[in-house]
Amino acid sequence: MQRRNHVGCVDSGFHGSRFADSTHWVRFWFLSRFTHRNESFTCINCGLQVEPSERTCRNHCPHCLYSVHLDVFPGDRQANCGGIMEPLRIEYNSRKGYQIVHRCQRCGHESRNIVLQDVAVQPDEQEALYELMKHPKA
Ligand SMILES: [Zn+2]
Ligand SMILES: [Zn+2]
Repeated sequence: MQRRNHVGCVDSGFHGSRFADSTHWVRFWFLSRFTHRNESFTCINCGLQVEPSERTCRNHCPHCLYSVHLDVFPGDRQANCGGIMEPLRIEYNSRKGYQIVHRCQRCGHESRNIVLQDVAVQPDEQEALYELMKHPKA
C-alpha cells in the first residue's frame, strides 16, 4: 500500500488490511470536524471558548482543566475515542514541570499534559490548579 502525502493519510498501522480506507476516511472526518490544537475550541465540560495559544501544546480548558481524548501521543490526534478527559491530579516532572494527569471517562486512558502558565492568552487558572493539588481525584 502506498503512503500518500497529505493530511489525514499518515501511517496508520493498518497497512494492507481491509480497514485501511475506512480508517483514512474516519481520520479525515475527525480532523475536519475537530479543530487542531492551534485553533480555538469550545470546552466540552464548561462551554468556555478557548482561544489559541502562542505555544503549541494547548489541549485542555484553562478554566476547568478538562480535555477530550483525541491523542495517543500528545498532538498526534490518533485516538478515535472523543471521550471527556477528567483532570485527576497535578504531578511534577523535573524535566517538563507541572503536568495535569487526565483520565478518559469513556475508555479509561490516562495521559499527562503540561500546565500552561507562561502564556499571555488564557493561562491555566491558578485556582483550578490549586484545587486539583489540594483535592486530587486519584
Ligand atoms: Zn472548561
Ligand atoms: Zn478515551
